[in-house]
Amino acid sequence: MTREREQPTEPTPTPPATGKEQYAWLELSRATPPKRSPTERLADFLEVYGCYDEATAREQAHRCVQCPEPMCVQACPLENRIPEWLLLTAEGQFLEAAALSRATSNMPEICARICPQDRLCEGACILDGKSDPVAIGAIERFLNEYAFAHGVTDSASVAPNGRRVAVVGSGPGGLACADELAKRGYAVTVFEAQSVPGGLLVNGIPAFKLEKGVVERRIDFLRHRGVVFRTGVWIGKDITLKELQRHFEAVFLACGAQQARPLDIPGADLKGVLQALPFLVEKNSDLPLAMPKTDVAGRRVVVLGGGDTAMDCLRTALRCGAKATVCLYRRDEANMPGSRTEYDNAVEEGAEFQFLTNPIALEGNGDGQVTQVRCVRMQLGAPDATGRRRPLALPNSEFRVLADVVLVAYGFDPTPFPADSDFAQIARHPWGGMVVDEQFMTRLPGVFAGGDLIRGPALVVEAVRDARQAALAIDRYLACRPAGGASPSADAVRAARAQP
Ligand SMILES: Cc1cc2nc3c(=O)[nH]c(=O)nc-3n(C[C@H](O)[C@H](O)[C@H](O)COP(=O)(O)OP(=O)(O)OC[C@H]3O[C@@H](n4cnc5c(N)ncnc54)[C@H](O)[C@@H]3O)c2cc1C
Ligand code: SF4
Repeated sequence: MTREREQPTEPTPTPPATGKEQYAWLELSRATPPKRSPTERLADFLEVYGCYDEATAREQAHRCVQCPEPMCVQACPLENRIPEWLLLTAEGQFLEAAALSRATSNMPEICARICPQDRLCEGACILDGKSDPVAIGAIERFLNEYAFAHGVTDSASVAPNGRRVAVVGSGPGGLACADELAKRGYAVTVFEAQSVPGGLLVNGIPAFKLEKGVVERRIDFLRHRGVVFRTGVWIGKDITLKELQRHFEAVFLACGAQQARPLDIPGADLKGVLQALPFLVEKNSDLPLAMPKTDVAGRRVVVLGGGDTAMDCLRTALRCGAKATVCLYRRDEANMPGSRTEYDNAVEEGAEFQFLTNPIALEGNGDGQVTQVRCVRMQLGAPDATGRRRPLALPNSEFRVLADVVLVAYGFDPTPFPADSDFAQIARHPWGGMVVDEQFMTRLPGVFAGGDLIRGPALVVEAVRDARQAALAIDRYLACRPAGGASPSADAVRAARAQP
């Protein structure tokens, strides 16, 4: 599924300073990286954007005004040292800039592709409003692709410190924690329930936003660092907490939030009504699924919800030949939680959006097949406890939208452990998130957690931030404890999995 990636060439020489660098943005507009046409991209699942060339990356980095108190750094959950690596990029020192970007991020090439930059670093850029913000994400992507192309990514393993940590879940949270610990000499084993590592990076986020090969390359990088992956192992079912603790000195739980929120309106059980994530997994990955395939070719697909998942469903359905795709969202365009860029891309690709629209019932035919969605129009009232304006139904505003397939993208709750497993004893909030202290430790000593499991559905970059802080906390926690524990052999894992 991966296209041949750009092979950036050697850095070009630094141009002489003119003293006008601070004002480069006045003369130079923001450049969009190469972008494939909607017609071309609807024919496959490859990424929409390509990479800047060197000259464009340097020019675009020149647009940074080098603020003394950069707001972009504060707005980046990883506090990436953005102005510093932009300056190095502008000077053509690409490898040095990439090294600086790696110093604060465990997967900069991934965050660069899928962070909603308009809400994070670029949304805080001082140029936003006066001109367009600096293209931070596109430059971060260029730098890290450049480093990979030149084989300069610091993946070497370090001297072992003799201590073992288990990571449960191989999404961005698990991967980042494993990376940070391996860098400190820990022997890290990542346990993943699915047959392929990567979590939502491979099983949820479609390849047109993040090609699978990019994630596989990052996982290979971790293997090279010495991280061991055990896939197809469901912790809490195949292996108990007690067994993990016998073999590892600390445990990091990064099981995500993949429990779909149910649709609670009449008709939710009609044929053709599906949860978003299984649909995305079926269309975007090779994972075996215990459900029949969904054919959307030539059909009208209605998506309920307004976040990243909803937009990914619309765009996936269009790539699978849907006749029409309509998103029904109860708030307005300005209040959509998803990324602005991905919304614009969805519109370009032909997705329709009906804002201030709330489905109240699904209706079907005599075969129990969904045929339409009954909706009401909404208006935004006073802000609720979260500060967002509450949507209220407009009286006498009912109408219907035709539908052959309805995809429910109402969000997710933190992934539970089986009720009879010893993981069920770990304290959770009433809404399902695992309780952790400021050191990311659960109520059980030595058991840490992070990512969507503790905060509910969030962002990749936030899972990476949690994982980095948790790895530091695990390191501190183990530093004051004597070494102990033995690694479970492959036979032990197999034996544990074979248990009823
Ligand atoms: C469709 C979709 C699109 C998204 N798009 C974006 C986007 O564009 N940008 C962005 O920043 N974020 C996006 N997100 C959110 C982002 O993917 C998540 O915030 C992020 O992946 C959370 O990382 P995590 O490591 O906490 O969990 P996950 O990525 O969910 O990984 C958890 C892993 O744990 C495994 N696991 C669970 N329980 C067990 C167990 N008992 N034993 C072993 N393994 C277990 C799961 O199989 C999974 O692989 C999107 C989410 C979805 C659903
Ligand atoms: S990690 Fe995300 S928020 Fe931070 S600089 Fe990169 S793209 Fe921006």
